[in-house]
Amino acid sequence: MLTIKAAREIVREHTPTPLIKERRLIEARGLYLAEQVTAPEQLPRVDNSAMDGYAVALPGNASVDKPIKLEIIGESRAGMPWKETLTAGTAVQISTGAPVPEGADRIIPVEDTTREDDQVWLKTIGREHDHIRFAGREVLAGDVIAEKQVKLTPPVVTWLAGFGIDRVKVFAPPRVSLITTGEELVDINQTLKPGQVRNSNRTFLEGLLAEEGLEPTYCRHVPDVLEATSKALDEAGRNSDLLITVGGVSVGQHDHVKAAAEQAGFRPHFWRVAQKPGMPLYFATRDRTLLFGLPGNPVSVVMTSLVYVYPTLKRLLGAPDPELRTFVGQFDQPVENLDPGRAKLLLVSITGYQHYIAQLQPQGPQESHMLSTVTKSDGFIIIPGERTTVEKDETFTVHLFPWTEKHGTLPQRKRAESG
Ligand code: AMP
Ligand code: MG
Repeated sequence: MLTIKAAREIVREHTPTPLIKERRLIEARGLYLAEQVTAPEQLPRVDNSAMDGYAVALPGNASVDKPIKLEIIGESRAGMPWKETLTAGTAVQISTGAPVPEGADRIIPVEDTTREDDQVWLKTIGREHDHIRFAGREVLAGDVIAEKQVKLTPPVVTWLAGFGIDRVKVFAPPRVSLITTGEELVDINQTLKPGQVRNSNRTFLEGLLAEEGLEPTYCRHVPDVLEATSKALDEAGRNSDLLITVGGVSVGQHDHVKAAAEQAGFRPHFWRVAQKPGMPLYFATRDRTLLFGLPGNPVSVVMTSLVYVYPTLKRLLGAPDPELRTFVGQFDQPVENLDPGRAKLLLVSITGYQHYIAQLQPQGPQESHMLSTVTKSDGFIIIPGERTTVEKDETFTVHLFPWTEKHGTLPQRKRAESG
């Protein structure tokens, strides 16, 4: 049977590079840039004032020791610059952000002045260039202002908008389809008849997509019938980059996803991975469409989604770092691998940190139908199949859930300790 590493490698090999689309900047929020963006102009565009006060041209004999009085000859306001040149001994009233007139050598903040009609007394003279934001100090025309694969977060969008950039090239977000299977499943708001189960896994996948700003483009539930499953897969496959099915990939008589996928023209790449939970995971492709057949148990859905679907989704989005965040962690007591032979995706919670190493506690019980354990965990470690125990103090890579909030704890501690 395939190892997790080999299976992930196969998925990666078949993940196409995302297509590139031009979009209005504000409609590209949350997506990743597919181009490096350069500055069409310098920033600041012109020399401007950092303070409300007076732009002054000091007379040659000015010194701190004797009071200085300058003649106010105009005003430079935001949007209404004063267009003449200052001569020595004159001042122009100026507002924050307003262009600094020619000839001014510094700005004297209003707090350091006293005004008398058209004259201003300076209480200090500061230094040459004080409070002037010089043109091009932050960015020169042609400088790179956003790298390729940068996420269009609110500040990045604002930054580009400030340059008048209205259209950007981004990686086209993947179109994702969800198909749940199972005769026993009903919508979550239905009253259950004997033997029925709520279709809760659909909620998980929709949630995972929502975290990336995506909604499924096609969402269906099909009964355990080969023809209906094949039809839905064919239909979904026409309009998706990523197709996720839930349930029906095991060896049961009513598990039809694999046969249905092949009937719909998908090419299988693997079925079954040496892992627990999630062993019957199925992966196939049709042209550019990737199909993940997830086993239906809730914990299997979560874990296979995180190990296989999540990084694929991030790659399809064009994200530079598609994997889950990781920490180094250790247990304070030995932990037994109860299922040797298959890699164990062991759910853990973080109880604290010691020398920046996360202190882990296995969560239990770890059965593929027991979602409660996931809700109490922060992430998981992967215990190799050949291991029967994990020693106390042995270090592991902890894969954090994308939604766990505890990853904030470590940097906070670091900050506190470095004062
Ligand atoms: P299967 O992989 O189809 O054999 O399903 C395994 C178990 O997961 C069964 O108990 C199903 O009822 C349950 N299951 C399958 N799909 C879902 C779903 N969408 N939501 C909740 N439970 C599910
Ligand atoms: Mg089923």
